Amino acid sequence: MSNIPELFGCLVFNDDIMRARLPKEIYKAFRKTREDGKPLDQTVANSVANAMKNWAVEHGATHFTHWFQPMTGITAGKHDSFITAVDNCKVIMEFSGKELIKGEPDASSFPSGGLRATFEARGYTAWDPTSNAFLKDGSLCIPTTFCSFGGEALDKKTPLLRSMDLIDRQAVRILRLFGDTETTHVTTTVGAEQEYFLIDKALYEQRKDLLYTGRTLFGAKPPKGQELEDHYFGVIKPRVSAYMKDLDEELWKLGILSKTKHNEAAPAQHELAPIFTTSNIATDHNQLTMEVMKQVASRHGLTCLLHEKPFAGVNGSGKHNNWSMSTNNGVNLLEPGESPRENAQFLLFLTAIIKAVDVHQDLLRMTVATAGNDHRLGASEAPPAIVSIFLGDELTDILQSMVDGSVYETPDKEYMEIGVDYLPRFAKDTTDRNRTSPFAFTGNKFEFRMVGSAASIACPNYMLNTAIADVLCEFADELEQAEEFRPALRNLLRRTIKEHKRIIFNGNNYSAEWVEEAEKRGLLNLQSAADAVPYYISEKNIHLLTKHGVLSECEVYSRYEITLENYTKQLNIEALTMVDMVKKDILPAVCAYMKDLSQTACNKKQLSETIPCHLEETLLTRLSHLSSELYMQNEKLEQIVAKAANVEGIKELGRYYRDVVFAQMEATRVIADEIESLVGESYWPYPTYGKLLFSVK
Ligand code: ADP
Ligand code: MG
Repeated sequence: MSNIPELFGCLVFNDDIMRARLPKEIYKAFRKTREDGKPLDQTVANSVANAMKNWAVEHGATHFTHWFQPMTGITAGKHDSFITAVDNCKVIMEFSGKELIKGEPDASSFPSGGLRATFEARGYTAWDPTSNAFLKDGSLCIPTTFCSFGGEALDKKTPLLRSMDLIDRQAVRILRLFGDTETTHVTTTVGAEQEYFLIDKALYEQRKDLLYTGRTLFGAKPPKGQELEDHYFGVIKPRVSAYMKDLDEELWKLGILSKTKHNEAAPAQHELAPIFTTSNIATDHNQLTMEVMKQVASRHGLTCLLHEKPFAGVNGSGKHNNWSMSTNNGVNLLEPGESPRENAQFLLFLTAIIKAVDVHQDLLRMTVATAGNDHRLGASEAPPAIVSIFLGDELTDILQSMVDGSVYETPDKEYMEIGVDYLPRFAKDTTDRNRTSPFAFTGNKFEFRMVGSAASIACPNYMLNTAIADVLCEFADELEQAEEFRPALRNLLRRTIKEHKRIIFNGNNYSAEWVEEAEKRGLLNLQSAADAVPYYISEKNIHLLTKHGVLSECEVYSRYEITLENYTKQLNIEALTMVDMVKKDILPAVCAYMKDLSQTACNKKQLSETIPCHLEETLLTRLSHLSSELYMQNEKLEQIVAKAANVEGIKELGRYYRDVVFAQMEATRVIADEIESLVGESYWPYPTYGKLLFSVK
């Protein structure tokens, strides 16, 4: 293994390289842009571009690309070479400041939702100097935002940057109230733990469902699943280990802080966790991580499945979005702190988050709504579809005594009245014992656990940032006006906690009692994406997003449409794949098996009427019934899918796919899975669950 500190970031045009390669003045101007968002002038841009190009060419690059994150959820870019023709027969390698700052890809083939009507086909990409350029497959990749010519965001990075700017301003206002005159910026930080499955590539390629949809649409339960709990944190098998080593190296080269790797709960399931960084870079890095995971798998004869539910019957995959806020001096604002000032400030940020999550449950639920995630939420393997906050009993009691103005018994059996300026010591490390909560306080950060494994983390984060910033803004407005800060603060916190404490739940989120209790508390339980996505365009949410300029009304509508379109398209592909698999592979396989069974029975009977054919007859009868039933259910599925064309309105279409198409898919699957359990393995057209889940050694 190479020298890791040397290897780390070797494919990244980072700050050190910039400082070394740029004239001092230029470097200073660039830093100003990066830190304060000041526009770059042409000379500076040219100089930076030239240094980037020289560095990239020295490292073997021939092309550059504006790397962006359209609404497809994956990254995109068109690759232009650096060549410029001279004297008709020669080329030189060139890259201008203009090319660095702005690109003009054709935007017409990217999802734009309702914006299609208002914007021309052209879009433009604009350099995001806060995220480093890097090298990939011989191209210099420049992180960019992607907008229409009218200025509407067509990507996931633009609103994320807007939301980070918003929360920066609002959090600094709050810090000023506590007498902090030094902090100039607050940035949100994210560490996204990524779960994934690794299976053998040759087996993967034999399954149309995995190829077309990323998940298995059929598959009888194998004799062994995850019931022995022998995979989580278990010994990593050699092939997987080789993959993980290679993956880490590739990520480190790209400057990605890959830190932890381990086996997850389901067989063939694993996790990678990075060290946290700013939301923007964490988002870029998570996108890159997912890409690199797939590429490296291929080199090892493996396939990396990022789908939220590749296999029924074992856990699916999520992405824990660890979130906090930190000042430009590196102070984590969700650290409860030691001094009374820090305590009070912590309580204010905590209270703001409690309110934001309660008021915007719908919005947060919506950010994790996809066809894939529908399989996980509420299935007792991931948080339920009900948003709630876990604080731990002690912190909850502390907040409650603040509301009541009562005394609190500390772990050391001291009794104290909780003002807002003093937090009794509470055992922080006991705060992360609840693994069932969708939004858990884990000592100095919150862990949003509802995010799906395949999803970009941009949307969950810009919504989270916006919702919290909105409350911080409201708090700052109130407290800045107050005659006396302390009593006003106390009053604000008491009032807010009282109003929003229903969102706090420390119990078992997987239990049926919680579903009932949550309903009593008036919390939302939006079971599927079809239920959740329409909340995007509620008056409250449009108001929140437009008020702070994170998304315009037009952008909200377009995102709403794209999300639902995506959902219905995905279910449509799944349904069509099912129909195809049943017709072309599964029914022919059963027929072949039945033919052999009846042939055997006939042969026996020809030999002697007395040879028993009980096995053949029973199986034949059973399979005849089941295969006719499968044939009928499949016909029905095909008809139902065809009828989707008649459904008007995207919201109605979402409902139709969930309630009618998806329900029929489930009905079809049950029969096929039963048939699979009866048919000889050599007849079955696809590798079984057993093979898929247990063959990588
Ligand atoms: P666990 O979830 O098992 O408690 P850790 O506490 O080590 O594990 O952290 C999990 C993830 O949270 C890691 O990716 C880590 O980088 C991230 N994390 C830790 N502190 C912060 C923070 N202040 N802001 C954002 N993410 C953080
Ligand atoms: Mg975790």
